[in-house]
Amino acid sequence: MGSKAPDIVRQLKFVIDRVNAAARSRPPHLQGKEPRLVAVSKTKPSLMIVEAYTSGQRHFGENYVQELVEKSTDPQILQNCADLRWHFIGNLQKNKVNKITGVPNLFMVETVDSEKLAMALNNSWGKLSRGEPLRIMVQVNTSGEENKSGVKPSEASALALFVRDKCPHLQLAGLMTIGSYESSTTATVNPDFQCLVQCRKEVAEALGVAELDLELSMGMSHDFEHAIETGSTNVRVGSTIFGARQYPPKPDSAASGAASEPNPSSASTSASTAGPGGDSAKQCSSTDKVEVAETELHSLSLNSS
Ligand SMILES: *Cc1c(COP(=O)(O)O)cnc(C)c1O
Repeated sequence: MGSKAPDIVRQLKFVIDRVNAAARSRPPHLQGKEPRLVAVSKTKPSLMIVEAYTSGQRHFGENYVQELVEKSTDPQILQNCADLRWHFIGNLQKNKVNKITGVPNLFMVETVDSEKLAMALNNSWGKLSRGEPLRIMVQVNTSGEENKSGVKPSEASALALFVRDKCPHLQLAGLMTIGSYESSTTATVNPDFQCLVQCRKEVAEALGVAELDLELSMGMSHDFEHAIETGSTNVRVGSTIFGARQYPPKPDSAASGAASEPNPSSASTSASTAGPGGDSAKQCSSTDKVEVAETELHSLSLNSS
């Protein structure tokens, strides 16, 4: 505590400017739709959401079920943010599906990683008879880290086909990944992002749709510009807008809540422990993703003035 409240409006503008600049510097075959900024508000108070909404932000992301339920039904938000669109971006257990589908203004569930979960969402959403299908994304574990959720890259097409063929109340919007923190900070071209691009290619072929009809959700505070330059259409930015997160001290360990939190510390600890089946090497070998690799990355000189 003790740090003063961040100037959300100013920081939001700053991020939007950077999003737009990155979008302009995309290679021609990735130009087109403007990338969507999802403001990740987890652990932050409703008041900050209202503030961001009032200055024009519409898409918000949360990754804890209970927190999303509480914020989305908070009178402050219901009264002031009628057009807000919620993205659920956390681990979702099947027994919590009804809580999520009941969220007012739920726009998308980005983290579908099994047929069972897809079917549970489908059935739950169908019962609500909302008219339009619920948008979902298939989460892909591009980094192969055990502490990350998501299907293996090689399994993405099968799940996408399942959603199309067996889940009439769901609409597959695209693919989502978190990726490893290491890849995002050390590689010139993030292999996990390339992996998701490659996955989309395969999924689009399997579905018989155009690649650009499927969105890519990738990129967070520290790498969203790079993500956009490699084809992201949906970036999830939290701390750069709302300030660093402070988690309440956990009674015993930091482990329980950390599983779904893609922060550096949790990512680096368990990555190397390859248990049974944990050695399934990354399916995306990152050697022949020529299309993306050719995209020389402009080192954007970001002046914050
Ligand atoms: C918290 C979170 C983000 C945002 O992280 P920042 O580094 O604060 O931008 C993005 N995606 C997911 C899935 C998250 O849980």
